[in-house]
Amino acid sequence: MSRVVIVGAGIGGCIAALAAKDADPSADVHVLAVSPERYRHEPGTIDVLGYVPDQQGPVARPAARIDSLPADHPYNLVGEDDLTRALAYLDDVFADSDRSTYRGTDRNALAPTVTGGVRPTYRYPVTVAAGLVSSQRPMHLVGLDCLTHIDADLVADRLDSVAPFDVTASTVEFPIDATETPPFEAFARALDENNETSDGRPVREALARAVRPALDIESRVGFPPVLGVTQHDEIRRELESQLQAAVFELPVGEPNLPGIRLRERLFDRLDEAGIELTRATVTEVSSTGGSIQSVNVATETEQRSIEGDNFVLATGGVASGGLVGTETEVVEPAFDCPVESPEKHSEWSISAPLGDHWFARAGVDVTSELKPTSRNGPVFENLVAVGGVIGGHNFVEERSRSGVAVVTGYEAGRSAVDW
Ligand SMILES: Cc1cc2nc3c(=O)[nH]c(=O)nc-3n(C[C@H](O)[C@H](O)[C@H](O)COP(=O)(O)OP(=O)(O)OC[C@H]3O[C@@H](n4cnc5c(N)ncnc54)[C@H](O)[C@@H]3O)c2cc1C
Repeated sequence: MSRVVIVGAGIGGCIAALAAKDADPSADVHVLAVSPERYRHEPGTIDVLGYVPDQQGPVARPAARIDSLPADHPYNLVGEDDLTRALAYLDDVFADSDRSTYRGTDRNALAPTVTGGVRPTYRYPVTVAAGLVSSQRPMHLVGLDCLTHIDADLVADRLDSVAPFDVTASTVEFPIDATETPPFEAFARALDENNETSDGRPVREALARAVRPALDIESRVGFPPVLGVTQHDEIRRELESQLQAAVFELPVGEPNLPGIRLRERLFDRLDEAGIELTRATVTEVSSTGGSIQSVNVATETEQRSIEGDNFVLATGGVASGGLVGTETEVVEPAFDCPVESPEKHSEWSISAPLGDHWFARAGVDVTSELKPTSRNGPVFENLVAVGGVIGGHNFVEERSRSGVAVVTGYEAGRSAVDW
């Protein structure tokens, strides 16, 4: 029986764990998660490859364009066949007994963004499906007055100028007072429970009544992503019936229920597969002869050692603590894998706000087997890296962040029980 220890429970770590357990059901797979709350920042879409250097405009079929990425890009290290297998595996993870939580084909879909732009995405939650730009039907966007960072009028104005259909907007008061800040989880819970408003009306009905006067011919209505944590299908259906229009959520950053629903989905799958998930961070690594024997971990209440045969570094990039910038360099704190930094701090970034900044490419170098490596070869024989901690490529510019996590996670998970 192989023992696999995965450090990090983002998309990459979860897919690695599930793929390892599927490849060897007798494997003992343990996932360490320091901060699963991070999912609340994510839009919940899975972007595989939106843009490549030699093409203007978005990529249509991601698997067909990895040949225009550098040879050492994680997708090319894995190869087109395994990339395709990994993406099919993701669909299995998302598949539900009675409904599909995610949608998409082998081609990118175009989803609206919170800044009124359009983004290519490969898999999107069913809750955003009715808002895809390709459907070309007029849409109405609803803002909620106390979610001030989503300005429905601004999004509608910008989208209207790029989309081949009319986009209108209105902002309404959410029918229930929320004292929490930010209030989006309180909104979602009120909708889940269909609480009564002060005038005795169920909140879903009250919300539909507030929106209805602003609707004209629009056959689809977009809301901030607050339509329930657990009952989102039911809430959407009820709003659709009351508004006589398709209802969708805008896939935006925080506040973000689609990201939280994604976490619930992945963690449920870990649980069903019998994979242990511990809220802990790695504090020390014990190794002999170039192989890791165990990691010391700290939970809120104890310190302990976890032994393993193979280890997966899935701690993400700078935003997740998988990489940390000091005054002089960027470090990878969990396993102390080397990260090459430019000598001068001034070279970390360039003046163009959305330009090709070095820090967007920062991360560990990996071998063709995804083992973190220095100039002298793999740092540890039994460590592989997945997702955002891998460096050398601008996953943000490519719009490939979650895709890289899924594809490398799948590859690493399978290889971790195969060594
Ligand atoms: C604001 C925001 C917006 C995003 N937007 C998009 C988008 O539009 N499209 C897209 O495809 N992707 C997006 N993503 C990125 C994406 O969802 C993931 O970051 C990406 O898939 C990389 O996944 P990962 O598993 O490598 O790392 P992460 O998802 O970053 O997960 C790493 C996990 O490891 C944990 N960790 C770190 N250090 C330790 C340690 N020492 N011990 C234990 N655990 C540790 C972290 O807490 C985190 O939970 C966004 C992310 C953020 C934060």
